[in-house]
Amino acid sequence: MDLNSKLAVLDQIYRVYDEFVANLHIACKKYCTGCCTCNVTMTTLEGYFMAKHMISYGKSSLFENIERSIPKRRFQPQTTTNRLADLCIRGKDFMKEENDYVNGSCPLLKDRLCPVYQVRPFGCRCFVSKHDCRDKGYAEVDSFVLSVNNLFLQVIEHVDSQGFSGNLIDVLKFMASKKNRHNYKMNRLENPDTGLIPNLKIKVLMIPPEHRVKIKPILNALQRIKRDL
Ligand code: SF4
Ligand code: SF4
Repeated sequence: MDLNSKLAVLDQIYRVYDEFVANLHIACKKYCTGCCTCNVTMTTLEGYFMAKHMISYGKSSLFENIERSIPKRRFQPQTTTNRLADLCIRGKDFMKEENDYVNGSCPLLKDRLCPVYQVRPFGCRCFVSKHDCRDKGYAEVDSFVLSVNNLFLQVIEHVDSQGFSGNLIDVLKFMASKKNRHNYKMNRLENPDTGLIPNLKIKVLMIPPEHRVKIKPILNALQRIKRDL
């Protein structure tokens, strides 16, 4: 699949997810930014999508915010969702990464709003909570929503299986370079060695047995995307 087709697929995947979220009872609203942290992760496909938007809509100065964040600590994943699924199914050990999250806001956040809201990555879209996280200090997420989130993470990584994943800051730093964007477009991306990890195709879906029936319509909607394009 060429890059334009992948971007069109990504756009449709976001649409399916946004429709799913629109039917949830959640507390998330404008100016609530507790989940806009420096620990957000994404794929290179999403990074390319964001970088092109930033350049096309006069928001290139946001790359300076990214540059200033490079020396700061942040969550840098060591394993992608599809690799984790693969390790689980093969009964292999995997590294627990929960303790690597650190305090700090997303460097793109401005006046408690996201300047790239329309093209924010899935890692931002999937932060939802039944109650306002600021009241309790943590999010409350339905277990079915977590299964749906995992499914979307797996599908987006699959679409970008020739690309990489990493912290939003590292991916955007990488995509700020015209040469890197060109190499990505041409499918000539070698290991960038900048805190990014290679993506993997889906080998097995991580859907718990109790959610397999309920998730079917979403799975069908995702499967229709490629057929309709
Ligand atoms: S997940 Fe929590 S912090 Fe983020 S918008 Fe929703 S309620 Fe606010
Ligand atoms: S990209 Fe936007 S939505 Fe995502 S964490 Fe940053 S400011 Fe928040």
